[in-house]
Order: sequence, then C-alpha cells, then structure tokens
Amino acid sequence: MTKKIDILTLFPNMVNAAFQESIIARAVSKGLLELNCHQIRQYTTNKQGKVDDYPYSGGPGLVMAYQPIADCIRSVSAGDKPYIIYVSPQGKPFNQKKAQELVQKENLMILCGHYEGVDERVLEEFIDEEVSLGDFVLTGGEIPAMAIADCIARLIPGVLAEGSAEKESHSGLLLEYPQYTRPAEIEGKKIPEILLSGKHDEIEKWQVKTAEERTKRKRPDLYEIYEEQKLNSQTYYFDNSATTRQDDGVTEEMCRTVKFLYGNPSSLHHMGLEAERKLTSARKIIAETIGASEKEIYFTACATESNNWALRGYLEANPRAGKKVLISSTEHPSVSETAAFLSKNGYQVELLTVDNKGIVDMDKLRSALTPDTAIVSVMHVNSETGTIQPIKEISSIAKAVNPNIAVHSDCVQSYGKLPVSAKLMGVDMLSVSAHKIHGPRGVGFLYVKDGIRIAPLLCGGGQEKALRSGTENLPGIAGFAKIAKEACGKLEEHNKHVKELNKIFREIITEEIRSSNIISNEEGCPYVLSVSFPGLRAEVIQHSVEQKGVYVSVGSACSSHKKDRSPTLTAMGYNNNIIDGAIRISFTYQNTKEQADYAARVICAEVKKLYGRRKGRK
Ligand code: PLP
Repeated sequence: MTKKIDILTLFPNMVNAAFQESIIARAVSKGLLELNCHQIRQYTTNKQGKVDDYPYSGGPGLVMAYQPIADCIRSVSAGDKPYIIYVSPQGKPFNQKKAQELVQKENLMILCGHYEGVDERVLEEFIDEEVSLGDFVLTGGEIPAMAIADCIARLIPGVLAEGSAEKESHSGLLLEYPQYTRPAEIEGKKIPEILLSGKHDEIEKWQVKTAEERTKRKRPDLYEIYEEQKLNSQTYYFDNSATTRQDDGVTEEMCRTVKFLYGNPSSLHHMGLEAERKLTSARKIIAETIGASEKEIYFTACATESNNWALRGYLEANPRAGKKVLISSTEHPSVSETAAFLSKNGYQVELLTVDNKGIVDMDKLRSALTPDTAIVSVMHVNSETGTIQPIKEISSIAKAVNPNIAVHSDCVQSYGKLPVSAKLMGVDMLSVSAHKIHGPRGVGFLYVKDGIRIAPLLCGGGQEKALRSGTENLPGIAGFAKIAKEACGKLEEHNKHVKELNKIFREIITEEIRSSNIISNEEGCPYVLSVSFPGLRAEVIQHSVEQKGVYVSVGSACSSHKKDRSPTLTAMGYNNNIIDGAIRISFTYQNTKEQADYAARVICAEVKKLYGRRKGRK
C-alpha cells in the first residue's frame, strides 16, 4: 500500500496548495500518507537556474533538460526505490483500475513535465510508467499529478470512511446510483419511495437497477463491458469442439481489415495490392503453423468445404488413381457424407474399423489397401471422443502399398491444440477450420501438398490459383491468421492447462457418479472428454445442466440435428445404453479451473437428480 508520494515539479506551491485542505490534508496529518513536493529547479548546476533548453530537432518550445531532473530524482529517491511515473499525454490512460494498481506500490514518485516535455533520456533512464489523464494537452504535468495523487490517496485504508470507495462510480464497471439527501421532498420533487421503505434488500436491488440504467445511458462503452462480464460470469461454456467464442483480438483485427483494407485482392490498383499483401501475409503465417509453404495453402469457407474438396477434387483430377476410397468409420459427416456421395457415383468406399479406443485397426487397413485405392482419409482427432489417430503410421502403411495413394486428414479438432505438421504426418491434404480455435466462422483452409493435383469445386474468377474461385474473405482470413499464430505458438502451455481442466472433470465425475463411463481415453486429446451416464438420455442431461449455465453437447454438435446414434461410439463397440447417455465436454484454454469445478459438480448434481427420478418411476 502506498505510504509516500513524492511529486517532482517546477511549481511546488501549486501542488502544495491543493493538498492543504480536505480529505488528503487530514490523511497526511493522521500519518496515513507522506506527501512531498520537490522543486526541480533547485537541482540545476547552472548559475541562471535554467531547467530547459531548445530541442535539437528544432521547432517551437523548450524541453526540460536531463541534468536537474536526474539529480532531483536521485536525491529524492536516495535509500528508497520508488515507482516512478511520468505524467504525459503519451502515457497509458489513467482510470480507477490503474489507481488500484498503483496504490499497491509503497513509494510513488510523480514527475511533472512542462513546456515541450522532458529530454527523452530521462524516460529511458528513470521512468517505470508513463500515465495520461486523457487525450488532451495541458500546460504542465501538475494538474494530472494532483488528480492521480488524490485518486490514489483516497484508496489508502483509513483515508475514507469504510466502504465508501467501494460502491462509487468506476470502482466496478457501473456508474454510481443516484444519491439524494434531506429533505425527502423539495419544490415538489420527491425522492424515490423505495428509499424511505427501510427494506434494505429492495433498496440494494434499486441501487443496482438504477446504476445499470444510468451506465447504459451515460457510458454505453462501460455498459457493454459490464454486460459481457456479467454474461461470462454466469456462463460455463464447455462445448468448444462445436465452436468457440471469437477472440476479441481477432474481432479487432477483422474490424481493421474491414475498415481499411476493403480493396479486392484481385484489383490491380493500390487498394487491391494492399489487400493482396494482407492475404499473402496471412497465408504465410498459416503455412508456417503446419510447416508448409504458402503455395500449398488454399483458403476455403469452412472445413466442410475443405473435406468435400479434398476427396471429390482429388478423385476428379486423378481419374486413373483408382476407384477405392478408404475412410475411418469415425469420420465427421463432412467426410463420411462425401464418401457416401462418391459411392453413389461409381467409387467403392470402405470404412476402416476401429478398436475400443477408436483407433483405426492397422491390420484392417493393410488388408483394405489395394492397388486400386485412390485415397485414404482419416481424421487426426475425433470430435466426439478426442481419440488421436496415428496419421503418420497410416500414411506410411498406405504409401508402402502404393506411394501414389493420396492421404488426407481432417485436422479440425487438432489444429491449434496439438502439433500439426503436414510433412511429419506424411499427408498430401489436410483440412482446418478457424472457428474451433477462437477464430471467425466462415474460414478454413485446405493444405494441398505441392505436386498433388486437385480439381476445383468452384469455378469463376480464378482466385486461389484458379482452384477456389470467389472473392477472398479477407477479414476472416486476417482474423484466422492472427489466432492461428497465437494458438500454435502456445500449444504446450494451453495443453497443460486443458489437461488439468480435463482431470478435474474426470476426478469429480468418477468420484460422484459410480455408474459413469468415461469414454475418452487418457492418451487422447485433452480438449475433448466424452462421458456416459448409462440409463439416462444425453439430451435430458444437456438441458438440465443448461438451466445452471453449463453448456455441453450430445455427441458431435455438427451432427446433433441427426437423430441416428453416434457412428463413432457405435464403431467403438459401445451399446445403445451407453451411447444414449453420452455427453461431450469440450474445452478451451480460456476455461478456468473454477469453471471446470463448478460445471463438473453441476453435471453430477443433475445426473444424480435424474437417476433419482428414474428410480422413483420404477
Ligand atoms: N471436421 C470435424 C472433425 C469437425 O469437428 C467439424 C465441425 O465440428 C468439421 C469438420 C466441420 O467444420 P466446419 O464447421 O468448419 O465446416
């Protein structure tokens, strides 16, 4: 907590005058705070007492010189190690949050600039933080320094009456509710009746309601943040394999692109070239995340498109490659339905069986591979269970039979969560979607290895090397590149955190619900946890936990509108009783351990209630 504030100024009388009255003066006299002003001019070494000089860069005005400030700082801070603030319009905006942060520093020193500011070397050598009172310019730093010192001082315990700093404007996000004093009626104007009721609960509700109303009206910017925080604090979202909340940084990046880079990347003028430059940079970033080259990345509208295109586009462009298509029996519908389409159009589709962990049976793969096999498509991480397929091994087995067999992997649930390298996995094509990693909806990509031929699904203006026509979704692509770089740069850190979240659920559920059946294996991707409560229906569990703000899904959200039983769990050999009671809990690194603990306990409590009701009916 702050005990001492030293203000370094050319006008100490101005500052001292402000603190000789009222609350701060009382705090100083009670010994709660030591507040000193220091005259910088006293430290000049020249005869004229000059503290300023002309700037080397020319232009009007004078700049405060290094020497007197440096000597003043050194002399005042002798023995202490103050946190030194320079008040300037270039600093971080000062607000209540910043005041709460600064009051934690025991010794604060505030340097007030004047004229055209101070020699830059002062900032480099001494200043811990530059703080600004707002986007306007004053004649000197004294008024901001006084405002900052006043705001910090009143947060020191004992300076104000207990509790009065807590409810006022800006301490939370809401502005303070309206205040009235005696008399209860004046000039025909009455105070709200509730304030005379003596009902403290009702008065508190009124305070919150009026604070919300006036914040919404007077400071819509603060109200938006308040609403968002309120919503987040009541929402326990564990359906991140279905989709994720778009990252705020992504939204900002997209807005910037929408506002300033609205040219068409195909246009030959400057605006077009600027847009194209952004597109090229995004493609480079994305390519690097999977160890590919830029020319191997094709932007699409979603992974469903990427998966359709990989299979249909490859077979169309390579009619002599063969007629056999192998996919795992646990693929996402965007692959399995494409395969079904192909089988109606002359291709022989074979589903590769999986073991009870959901991993493709390698012996079955070997026997399914024939010289007529054109393509093998196996997803990297299963969206319902988190099972990780050994894509490298699958690719090696396929290529050993025929090096020309194309290998495709749907990496939607692994990208940005586990290492995904096109080369190390040995794949020819790979699909990804942005919205599973806090990126925007409506963007994905297909990696196509250099040398692999693929026919376009969309014909038109020739974008994406004439393989995927249509004006590029540049804001979406820019947002995707931003989050891809961040997510892929923090794989290990995020993975470690998500593993802990996953463990919290596993431990609470297994301890609380003896009959629960954890389907996801521990070696799988920690971002997905499939768990069944046999005898219950997953939809009922989903709806009852939703009432408590907990969001999970029934099987894969992409296919949940289908009434059929999950093909993935069926292929893994689970009986209908287990499949019908299986929910999917899926994580993001943005989930907290507290959220995980709360959500796991809510699930258990609701499941116990549902089991109880079931027993009662029997
Ligand atoms: N593949 C997998 C494994 C998925 O989980 C999903 C969506 O859930 C998709 C593909 C489809 O992705 P998109 O929504 O981008 O079409």
